[in-house]
Amino acid sequence: GRKFFVGGNWKCNGTGEEVKKIVSTLNAGEVPSTDVVEVVVSPPFVFLPLVKNTLRPDFHVAAQNCWVKKGGAFTGEISAEMLVNLDIPWVILGHSERRLLLNESNEFVGDKVAYALSKGLKVIACVGETLEQRESGSTMEVVAAQTRAIADKVSNWANVVLAYEPVWAIGTGKVATPAQAQEVHSELRNWFQANTSPEVAATIRIIYGGSVSGANCKELAAKPDVDGFLVGGASLKPEFIDIIKSAE
Ligand code: 13P
Repeated sequence: GRKFFVGGNWKCNGTGEEVKKIVSTLNAGEVPSTDVVEVVVSPPFVFLPLVKNTLRPDFHVAAQNCWVKKGGAFTGEISAEMLVNLDIPWVILGHSERRLLLNESNEFVGDKVAYALSKGLKVIACVGETLEQRESGSTMEVVAAQTRAIADKVSNWANVVLAYEPVWAIGTGKVATPAQAQEVHSELRNWFQANTSPEVAATIRIIYGGSVSGANCKELAAKPDVDGFLVGGASLKPEFIDIIKSAE
């Protein structure tokens, strides 16, 4: 089976003091073993070394972004090579906040995913539709195009987790219903079946993100194609431990 995956995306939040507090709460939490759940937290770049060096060894860290190719004269960017050099195993790419606020195109995200994988990073690749797109009935078309742009440049999906994060559910408290999440996850898995291989379709973890909380995680986790979560707001709170526990 597919091991349950819980990611905590801290986004652009936290002071040094707050970060230390979150880490100590995580370190004290009782969670299922690594046979049952894989936990990855993603602090802002500046806190990555601190978190990596103080976090319990059964949890791992992810960067929230990286540059699309080899480093060099790209002011303000962080390269995949730097993350590898610091032993950061994971990176989140294609988050809707970057797609929408920083105009990252499907093709650019595809290039980033391919480059990060080629340097040995594991990637949490995000896809998801806006409210307008859902209401016009184009959800599957949108997420398929986002996934296609990655598949055009990636053939080995072993180090990819796909996060389905409907934009209308992010930070809104309007979580997708378990049925809505399951529907898109299952269609995405069918997409992998048709466009990659049966093996990729069966093994790729498709996780849900968007207003996941301690209160709604169990019902979502019960759906057969929901292989975990990418958690924003609730990942900064003790409730994140409850979300990790929904793995069992
Ligand atoms: P929220 O859990 O705050 O809705 O954010 C979800 C998200 O964007 C995770 O990447």
